[in-house]
This record gives sequence, C-alpha cells and structure tokens, in this order.
Amino acid sequence: MSTLITGIGELTTNDPSVHGDALVIEGSTIAWVGTGSPAADTRIDVGGRAVLPGWVDSHTHLVFAGDRTAEFGARMAGKPYSAGGIAVTVGATRAASDDDLSAVVSRHVAEAVAQGTTFIETKTGYGLTVADELRSAVVAGSHADEVTFLGAHLVPPGADADEYVSLVCGEMLDAVAPHVRWADVFCETGAFDEDQSRAVLTAAAGRGLGLRVHGNQLGLGPGVRLAVELGAASVDHCTYLSQSDVDALAASDTVATLLPACDLSTRQPLPEARKLLDAGVTVALASNCNPGSSYTSSIAFCVATAVLQMRMSVEEAVRAATLGGAQALRRDDVGVIRLGARADVHVLDAPSITHLAYRPGVPLTHAVWRKGVQVI
Ligand SMILES: [Zn+2]
Repeated sequence: MSTLITGIGELTTNDPSVHGDALVIEGSTIAWVGTGSPAADTRIDVGGRAVLPGWVDSHTHLVFAGDRTAEFGARMAGKPYSAGGIAVTVGATRAASDDDLSAVVSRHVAEAVAQGTTFIETKTGYGLTVADELRSAVVAGSHADEVTFLGAHLVPPGADADEYVSLVCGEMLDAVAPHVRWADVFCETGAFDEDQSRAVLTAAAGRGLGLRVHGNQLGLGPGVRLAVELGAASVDHCTYLSQSDVDALAASDTVATLLPACDLSTRQPLPEARKLLDAGVTVALASNCNPGSSYTSSIAFCVATAVLQMRMSVEEAVRAATLGGAQALRRDDVGVIRLGARADVHVLDAPSITHLAYRPGVPLTHAVWRKGVQVI
C-alpha cells in the first residue's frame, strides 16, 4: 500500500541532498522523494501546504498522576520554583493504578500527535521505589517510542540520599534496565550532586544504557561537564551555561536540549541558544511535558518561542525540534524526510514553516503520518 503526497508548497527534509514537491510513503517508510508524480495506490494533493518531518519530542515526563495547578498558581504569584515539587507528583503516582497511569500516558501522547509530534521519548521518575519505577517503565514503553529511566529524579521524602543512590545504582537499575534504552539523572541543587550523579550514570552505562542528564536548569553547575565527560547523548535544560560549558559541548557529540516552555513556566531566563549555535553545538528543542514545570505538549509553541525570544531562525528551530531531537536520541531514521526514513510526516495548514513563528499560538497541524499511518 503506497501513498503519494503531492502539491507540497515547501518541503523541509533536513537532508541537503533531498528536495522536491512530492513524496511517497510505502508501509512505514519513505519510499521516494522528488519532483513529479510517480504511481501510487493513493494520491493526496496538499494544495501548496508546507511539509516537514514530524516533531521529535526527545524529553517528556508523561508517567504521572495528579495535578500541580496550585503550585503553578503560587509560582505565578511570585513563589520560586524548586526541585522539591516533584514529591507531590510522586505521591499521586504511587497511589495510581497501572491502568490510570497508562491512560495518562496514552492521552498525552495522543495530544502530542494531534499537534504534529510523531516520535516521543518519555521518562520514569515519579515512582522512586523499585516497584514503582519498574511499572512506570513498562507503562511508558507501551506508548512511547523511547523510554528513559529517571530513578534519580529526586531523593524521595524521608529517604537518606546516599542510601537512595545505592538503591538506584543496584536493585532499581537491575529491575528497570531491561525495559529502557536510556538512563538520566537530575544533577541540580536540591536533587543530586556531582558525585551522586556520576555514580548513577556510571552504573547505568555499565548495564549498557545510553546516558542523558538534566543539568544547569536552576543555576551554573556540573551537569553539562559531567554529561560531556561521560559521553551522554544529551544534556537537557542548559539554562545557565559558563563559557567552558559551551566550549565543552561544541567539542563533543553531546546534544544541548533546550526546554523553553519549562523556562517560561518556571519564570527562568531562556537559554542562550544563539551562543550555542554560533559555537557549533548541536541543539534540540523539546517540550519537557510534565505536570510541574512545563505542562505543554506543544512543540510548535517551543519553536515559536525559540524564534521570537531566543533569536533562533525558523529553520534552526524547526531543525532542532526534528533532526535535533533525533540526534539527542541517537536515531538516524526519524527527524528527516529521505528514502528509507520512518514515514513521520507533518503537513502544516500554511505555505511555509515561517508561519510557525509568524502565527504563534495558532494550531497549524493539517495532517500527520506516524510510521506510515495517517493519524490526523
Ligand atoms: Zn525533564
């Protein structure tokens, strides 16, 4: 079964050697891209609309229960954000059934897909016991494309930090590792310090997991340096960076994943994207969708913010939210439109990607193919 999408007004492929005004989807992959009208079982004319790869959201926390509206309201009234708010979600998540958690993840993935996200990573991290982290990983894996173990999200209230790190590095990793590809740590004041973060990441690497780091969100710190040193695929937040952090990222394969919706929602400054890009750092944009610090699944909102407030070009922002996300997950089959790539295709109800920033807040998703299936 093949589908020809034709009449493309502007095609963003993220591959400089691939151009055209039409493409063919066959099964779950892109079978052809070019100019013309090859034979196909079905033909869809998109009438001059812009087509781009589906968003790759490389950073979300969707396995949760409960609500933090009150905390958000308090923050907007002037109370500062701190890492400890996570504990509220931990209590609600532990109390929820597997079915309840699954319904929450499913609903939010569907919400993201409806806005053009076709590849989504999500994390554990609101269980913080062996049993709750394990079931969080299993639930995540039944809905998301990539799953990350974030047992080192917060020391659970009442627990001893060093004992908890030992649990994460031992029994918890043993239980969860078979169900995840990645491990992550929240390396931040109020969460885990450099030595604790290093212990968690080293233990995870020893079990064959890829590494990611939450770092430099609330102030300068060791997160970026540690991520680069240990060869992490991505260091996420990067709101506060020293020049040596920028230099270290530029000389590494570690992607700087920026989460501007989180910085807005916590009233932090926005990351210095321009400085990173000008230094040659690979940048990704992701939603950080979670109930505490960034409750949005809209990558279009992140792209508009990156352009309007972080001085990224539209092309840079779209690339960061597609190919950049794929690079942050070390995937070469998504975030691009070319022969053999996964058929994740986003059609905008607009003639160009510029409209994502020119018309901020306007829902512009017209059609979406995910793994070759038209879902919107
Ligand atoms: Zn996060």
